[in-house]
Amino acid sequence: AEEILINSEKLSIAGQLAAGIAHEIRNPMTAIKGFIQLLTSEFTSRKDYFDIISSEIERIELIISELLLLSKPQEMKFHQANIVSVLSEIKLLLETQAILNNVEINFVSVAARIDIYCEVNQIKQVCINFIQNAIEAMPAGGKLTVEISQASEGEVLIRFIDQGCGIAPEMLQKLGEPFYTTKEHGTGLGFMVSKRIIENHGGRVHVRSELEKGTTIEVYLPR
Ligand code: ADP
Ligand code: MG
Repeated sequence: AEEILINSEKLSIAGQLAAGIAHEIRNPMTAIKGFIQLLTSEFTSRKDYFDIISSEIERIELIISELLLLSKPQEMKFHQANIVSVLSEIKLLLETQAILNNVEINFVSVAARIDIYCEVNQIKQVCINFIQNAIEAMPAGGKLTVEISQASEGEVLIRFIDQGCGIAPEMLQKLGEPFYTTKEHGTGLGFMVSKRIIENHGGRVHVRSELEKGTTIEVYLPR
């Protein structure tokens, strides 16, 4: 237990540092992007180079936006939000991506309305991250079940159950480490940021996984 504590403290310092750096990088990136756009229209014969530059800039921006989600607490606005409608909105948002990947999203809830006290944009981000990871874990398609239930009187449980590639037991502990990714175009930040957000909400996340069978992510959030 002691080791885990030390590890998470290290992460928190690394996370703060990362968020600070990301913030500083954002402004120069905006300037670079603007001038690249201007150059693109002037040097049309080298469109191939500019396309590469643009896609690499996009990648940096994705990394920056994920790092920035490590968030400044003073910017968090907590409200009561119906987690059931939040999740059905997200399902609509990701439906096309799911269909393109032959993934069927099943959405199940014990009630039509379950309010939780949260920063709703951050909770959305968490759900999007877990659903995207689930879709990406099933390159040949499959079923993703998103289940909302009442864990106890004061706690909501959201389960993301996929039938994907699974995570090897020795890799489970790497989950949540910054930049741990097994994907060619991954950032390895989605899980860490999500875990951080859940913990900032006083919640916790459990992962169960079996190789070639699938993964279940359980998110407990206080109401
Ligand atoms: P990224 O998706 O950019 O790789 P994440 O932090 O979201 O970064 O996830 C880190 C890694 O954890 C992934 O690269 C993948 O190996 C593993 N992972 C996360 N969720 C799942 C899942 N549902 N099924 C299988 N592997 C997963
Ligand atoms: Mg991810």
